[in-house]
Amino acid sequence: MNERDAKFAEIARVLREHNKFAVLSHVRPDGDALGSTLALTLSLKELGKEVKAWNEDGMLEKYNFLAKAELLTTPPSSPEDFDVGIALDTAVQNRLGTTLAAVRSAKLWINIDHHPSNPRYGDLVYIDPTAPATGQILYEFLKNQKFPITPAIAENLYAAISTDTGSFQYPNTTMRTFQIAAELVECGVDVGRVSQLLYESFPRRRIELLRELLGTMHFACDGKLAWFSLSQTAAVALGVLPEDNEGLIDHLRAIRGVVVAIFFEELTDGKVRVSMRSKDEAVDVCAICKEFGGGGHILAAGARVAGALSEVEKKIVEKACAAIERNT
Ligand code: 5GP
Ligand code: MN
Repeated sequence: MNERDAKFAEIARVLREHNKFAVLSHVRPDGDALGSTLALTLSLKELGKEVKAWNEDGMLEKYNFLAKAELLTTPPSSPEDFDVGIALDTAVQNRLGTTLAAVRSAKLWINIDHHPSNPRYGDLVYIDPTAPATGQILYEFLKNQKFPITPAIAENLYAAISTDTGSFQYPNTTMRTFQIAAELVECGVDVGRVSQLLYESFPRRRIELLRELLGTMHFACDGKLAWFSLSQTAAVALGVLPEDNEGLIDHLRAIRGVVVAIFFEELTDGKVRVSMRSKDEAVDVCAICKEFGGGGHILAAGARVAGALSEVEKKIVEKACAAIERNT
């Protein structure tokens, strides 16, 4: 048995031998975090287990269509005891946010993720940085260990993988990703329906946000660096929800010649959320974000940086320019 299958078997044994589970994922969740959480929750429930699916932000409006979305909630204010806590798609433990405190005790913690910066917290750890989505790892796990994969589970896994690969376009998309997608379609996923709900059902608010952001667009480094920013004032005026942001940075990345794209978002706590994308493996945006206490992947990373919006912009733009000039 190879190393992966041995680890999968170990995790499967723990899941089969226990009864009460908390399935958690990172704050400001994306499609991979929410889809993965629901998929594993549903599979465990099929086995008759008691499962809580919690995220600090609860189910986002835009992912409400996911099968059994109602199972995923914000954590309760009074903590509960569990046999096993499971962190999915969460690069550092504190990104579990308030869900962590809602688990008063767990005999064991499982950590399943695809972030290379994951420091391997927990008792049973499976990190595959080559996987484009935690949803892909979960599919491999469920299939390999003969756990249930119902049509509802398949839809959640498909949404997780589709969103984390930018609809099967990012370079992390492999032959295996397409094979898995095909198998998920075989399990009952309606690709047209899910894709329309994922990519053609945005609230008008999100496009108005895009208009605002494009008004702040700047370029540097011979057009290799592009960024835009959202101030608190603009966010309030537009009535923006945090989830409206996901994917907007792709408009910058999609520009010919751009190597690094940055999205700055002024938060209410005196910090700025920095979101970075690179189109060139030689320019590692995770390394830049790590310098500011963040993390992620080589081509997609983020950090929360203390300071005024304009100060943080200046600092990060300088670092990004230096990295581009050093490596391209
Ligand atoms: P996004 O820009 O979409 O928020 O995040 C891109 C990637 O960077 C994701 O994989 C996410 O997990 C990671 N990331 C974003 N913000 C942070 C952060 O503040 N800390 C860490 N460690 N990773 C982050
Ligand atoms: Mn992910």
